[in-house]
Amino acid sequence: MKSRFAIGVDLGATTVKTGLVSSDGKIHYQNKLSTNGELGPPAVIKQIEASVRDVIVHAGKKKPSGIGIGSPGLVDDEGNVKSPPNLARWDEVPLAHTMKKIFRRQRVKIENDANAAAIAESRFGAGKKFPNFLFVIWGTGVGGGIILDNKIYRGPTGGAGEIGHVSIDYNGPPCNCGSRGCVEAYVGQRYLSQRTAEKLKSRRESKMMELVKGDTTKLEPEVIARAAHEGDSLAKEVLTEAGTLLGVAIADVMNVMDLRVSIIGGGISGAGDFVIQAIQDSVRERVLRPLQHDIRVLPAELGNNAGILGAAGLVL
Ligand SMILES: [Zn+2]
Repeated sequence: MKSRFAIGVDLGATTVKTGLVSSDGKIHYQNKLSTNGELGPPAVIKQIEASVRDVIVHAGKKKPSGIGIGSPGLVDDEGNVKSPPNLARWDEVPLAHTMKKIFRRQRVKIENDANAAAIAESRFGAGKKFPNFLFVIWGTGVGGGIILDNKIYRGPTGGAGEIGHVSIDYNGPPCNCGSRGCVEAYVGQRYLSQRTAEKLKSRRESKMMELVKGDTTKLEPEVIARAAHEGDSLAKEVLTEAGTLLGVAIADVMNVMDLRVSIIGGGISGAGDFVIQAIQDSVRERVLRPLQHDIRVLPAELGNNAGILGAAGLVL
């Protein structure tokens, strides 16, 4: 079968990454520009345009059949992007319409970034064998996407899959969203950093102190993940606890949706098999009996490329 090609744009808070992707999930060329998110929507759109033009030039005879964009924020069916966190003065922008005006001969589709990553795993990664799964992205915050019958389930307004705001304690700590006890308030950046700093006060040596040079305000999730990956027992302890809590929220969603598989992406999932194991043990303990035996929690396979691949997957 002849390969088809599409352009995938991974719009992030700090960088725009754009690539030329073939229908077998290979990235043939990619570039990376600064998002300039602090300068407002027109500046961001300029960066997207420049990155796409550059890919078109490098594509040569591999003519792309369209442009897909994974964007933070809520994305509606018309490709309007609403309130992406960390992009200044961006209330609602008709991004699909704008891109269609700039690139007249291209098909344009836009999807929320977590949904795009879920699509990438479904088409090209750990989810290829599974028509139905819950995708969870665990990094600074917690996001997700639901794949049903090999397609993303968006919900009526595109907001489906927000697993970060499943509450695991109605009396729990306040969350940025206004609710209480959301799982993100337990396993997101703020909580993980605080919890780690607390444990470090009373405890033994830890590799993390070397990594942050003694400054506990720099205990970002990636530092904890890296230390755990290098075998640090305190970092492993923190992430095992957090994985157990995340598993509570995942089990709730799996029970509601009758799902058996969850795929975990994002920076923390790379800390080691023990994190995935902690999540899986917690999920198994909590799902309904008939679901229990074939529950699977798997690490995502595409890492940082998931954004570009999923975006391209929208038009491939
Ligand atoms: Zn919340």
